[in-house]
Order: sequence, then C-alpha cells, then structure tokens
Amino acid sequence: MDRKLVEVKGLKKYYPVTAGLLSRHIADVKAVDGVSFHIAEGETLGLVGESGCGKSTLGRTMLRLEEPTSGSICYRGEDITGWDRKELKALRKEMQMIFQDPQSSLDPRMTIGDSIGEALLVHGMKNERERLELVAQLLKQVGLEPEHADRYPHEFSGGQKQRIGIARALAVNPKLIVADEPVSALDVSVQAQILNLMMDLQHSLGLAFLFIAHDLAVIGHVSNRIAVMYLGQIVEMADKAELLCHPLHPYTEALLSAVPVPDPHLERKRIVLQGEVPSPLKPPPGCRFHTRCPRGSKGCSEAEPELAELKPGHFVACHEPG
Ligand code: ADP
Ligand code: MG
Repeated sequence: MDRKLVEVKGLKKYYPVTAGLLSRHIADVKAVDGVSFHIAEGETLGLVGESGCGKSTLGRTMLRLEEPTSGSICYRGEDITGWDRKELKALRKEMQMIFQDPQSSLDPRMTIGDSIGEALLVHGMKNERERLELVAQLLKQVGLEPEHADRYPHEFSGGQKQRIGIARALAVNPKLIVADEPVSALDVSVQAQILNLMMDLQHSLGLAFLFIAHDLAVIGHVSNRIAVMYLGQIVEMADKAELLCHPLHPYTEALLSAVPVPDPHLERKRIVLQGEVPSPLKPPPGCRFHTRCPRGSKGCSEAEPELAELKPGHFVACHEPG
C-alpha cells in the first residue's frame, strides 16, 4: 500500500537579502521555489541535483528545521506547517537527519554511547539501564560492537562515524530519515557498505528516507523513486528504473551521462553542461534551465514549464521533453 507519510505542496524557502542601515529588504535567495512531492511509508525518495540547487534547504524545511516561506507540509495527513516549538519537539522523534560530515555532528568530548543516548535523554525516554541496553543494541544494528560505547569519536574511521550517526538517528525510533549526502565524504569502498546498511535498515525497520546526493550513481543505488532538482525546483520525478532508463528532461540526461557505465560497449554520449547553476537570487526567466540546455528553443526563455505527468508516475517540467 502506498500510504503517504509526508506530503509537501508548493513549498518555498526564500532567504531575504537586506542592505543598508535600515536593513531594507532588497531581494530573496529563492533556495526552494515551489516544490511538491510525497514520500510513502517505507519508501526512499532520492533527491539529486548539482550543488546549490536547494536540496539541503528542502530537506531541512521539510523537517521544519527552517521556517517555510510558503506552501504546506503534511505528516501522516496532519498539516505541520504551522506547528509551534512544543508540537515540533514530539515530531523530532518521528523525523531524524543524517549529515554528510558525521565528525561535526558528534561531540568530541562525549563517548559515543552518550552521544547515541542523548536524544533519548532529551525526550525523557527510558531510564539509565534501558538506555545502555538500547545503545548496545543500536551499535550492533549498525555493525559496531556494544563495547564501543565507551570510546570517543576520534577513535573511529569515517565510515564508522557515519554508522554512529545512523545509530544516533535510529535511537528515537523514527519513521523518516533525511540523509543529506551521507556518503559523499567517504571513500568509495566504504560508501557501498554504508548504503547497504541504510537499505537493510529501511527494510527491517520500515523506514522512509529522503536521500539527498549530488551523485546520480549513489541515488540510483538506494532509491525507489528519484526527484531531480534544479535551481529550487523539481524538474523530473519518476520511479528509479523509469527515470534512469527513460529520462525525459535534458538536465537528468546530463546528470546521467556523467555516471560511469560498467560495460564499455554501452558507452553513453557525455553531455557536458556549460557553466554553473545560475544564482537563485535571480533565476533565469521562463525555463530556469534554458541558459544551459542543449535542446532549448526560443520559447523556453519565455514561459515557465509546469511539472506535468507525461506518463503514469513520471513527471517532467520541460517544453521539449523526451
Ligand atoms: P544544495 O544542498 O543543493 O547544495 P542548498 O540548499 O545548500 O543547496 O543551497 C541552495 C541555495 O540557497 C544556495 O544558493 C545557497 O547559497 C542558498 N542558501 C542556503 N542556506 C542559506 C542561508 N541560510 N541564507 C542565505 N542563503 C542560503
Ligand atoms: Mg547540500
């Protein structure tokens, strides 16, 4: 059953830019600019796009770690967009985040057992003995040893630290995890282990993920569905196999062409995108991608394409899809 766990509609997150003594509002950084999607229970939605496209902002705003500028966020059918601090505290147990750099999210002066148990303390969950037991169980669950609880972060490798970060997120028994580039800082050989761990946990615990990465190869490995983000908006979204085999948006094609293929006979044409992602302070008019699009025709700089369902479950925002 495809039950919606979270549903985001028309979400925007603008950062105001001010100037002068009076802090006059002169512009907005449109980091997230009208995004709609859902994540079903137990599903991994991959979110991919170049650096600066607004992926992290979208993840944080969906969790209400940032105040949305407009739009709505529903969690299990309840509108949480306007929830206050107290209501959000309960929600934090349901939704957790894993970061790119596990080092910076672990306090170097705390044993990892204390770090993992911290969230339980904050939420007043369980007594000390129960906490110790749970920490030992969580360490095993992420492939570490219960004895590791008394050690400090510097005694662990990057991959192990990310396992600790995952154990920490799991401590409060969440339903949804936003994983923001969780393997981007790790050696390739370690990446696969962490991705496999996350997929095992998804299956055994029925977790849902918003899995953020700039690398389509990583996203393709773990996702059920994939959303492609460009300059604050979703430009294409479909089931993984559909998106990888039949991309309709030229931006998706370009991202795909950069993924190495194992079979040399299957060589893809490399599409090199010109320039960088334009500034979200002043996105290009019409289709935001038209300044870098290899297909672009004249009309593309005028009308903004809508995200339309061209095939069942396959959405694309492009004037010349396919
Ligand atoms: P990504 O995660 O895809 O790399 P981000 O969400 O980090 O993208 O950033 C999207 C855009 O929003 C960038 O242009 C970034 O500079 C801007 N941005 C992010 N956070 C802030 C902030 N707190 N204040 C102003 N601009 C921000
Ligand atoms: Mg980011």
